[in-house]
Order: sequence, then structure tokens, then C-alpha cells
Amino acid sequence: REEVNIISGALDLRKKPVKDVMTKLKDCFMLPINSVLDFETMSEIVKSGYSRIPVYEGSRGNIVTVLFIKDLAFVDPDDNTPLRTLCQYYQNPCNFVFEDVTLDVMLKQFKEGHKGHMAFVQRIEEGDGDPVYETVGLVTLEDVIEEMIQAEIVDE
Ligand code: ADP
Repeated sequence: REEVNIISGALDLRKKPVKDVMTKLKDCFMLPINSVLDFETMSEIVKSGYSRIPVYEGSRGNIVTVLFIKDLAFVDPDDNTPLRTLCQYYQNPCNFVFEDVTLDVMLKQFKEGHKGHMAFVQRIEEGDGDPVYETVGLVTLEDVIEEMIQAEIVDE
């Protein structure tokens, strides 16, 4: 019975796009690349509880890299290290995904692993000029797994 629910949850992944399970951009904990890693900023990062922090340049929609909490291991808050310096050193890549990609495809990409277990969700804005990509949120492996578990609980 439990197996049936899990399988049904797994099959439902094919019907759901990432935009349905993502964390919206406005709810994301992010840092501007011109931040300074002083005591205050580092405390905020730790307090946020997230293991990966998107880093943006200019506007929040312009994500340029990701900061991993473990990248802070050798950072002394007294040094007031610019975040940009750390980002240039680690150069963690970002993974982008189109908002209509379904969760089964997303899961497969996360399993392949080479781009990490977080992706930024993009939408195409059709305006007067050329279509532009707009970042609207982020999705992680946990969001996809949760979707399977939720289906299991709801089905009970
Ligand atoms: P973590 O390892 O930081 O706990 P998870 O991959 O386990 O992150 O994701 C847990 C939830 O938090 C997911 O719903 C994910 O979308 C969300 N999330 C992850 N990183 C951030 C962030 N920097 N800001 C806001 N939400 C985030």
C-alpha cells in the first residue's frame, strides 16, 4: 500500500512543473555580491539556516553564483573579506532551469549531480523587444522529494 503511494507520487512528478514547487525569488535568502563578510553578515548567513546562498549582482533577478556555507570555513569575520573575493575564488556554478520543466526531468538532472542540487527557475518574458529570461525562484532536490512524500501523505 505504501509502495503504491510512493509509485503514484513518483508518477505525478511527470505532471508538475518546477514553478509549482519552487521557493519564490522574493522569499529567497540571497546576498548582493558587494557584501562584506563581516561579523554581522556572517551571523545573518548562519541564522538563515540555509546551506546555499544565491549571490546576485545589481538586482535580485541577476544571480551570478552560489555561496556554500562550507566556503566560509576559512573566513575570519575580523578580516572583512569582500564576498566578491570569495566568489571569485570558489566560482561555484549556477544551474538554470525553465519554469515549465517537469519534476521528473528535474530529478534526473539533480541525480546526474554535476551541477549540484539547486537550480534557478527562469521564465521567458515576451515584451516589445527580444524575449528576456527572468529568474523567478529556486528549486532544490528537497522540493522534488517533498513532492513525492506529500503525494504519499495526501493519498492516505
Ligand atoms: P538547505 O540545505 O539549505 O536546508 P534544502 O535543499 O534542504 O536547503 O531546501 C530546503 C528548502 O529551503 C527548500 O524548499 C528550498 O527551496 C529552500 N531553500 C534552499 N535554499 C534557500 C535560500 N537560500 N533561500 C530561501 N529558500 C531556500
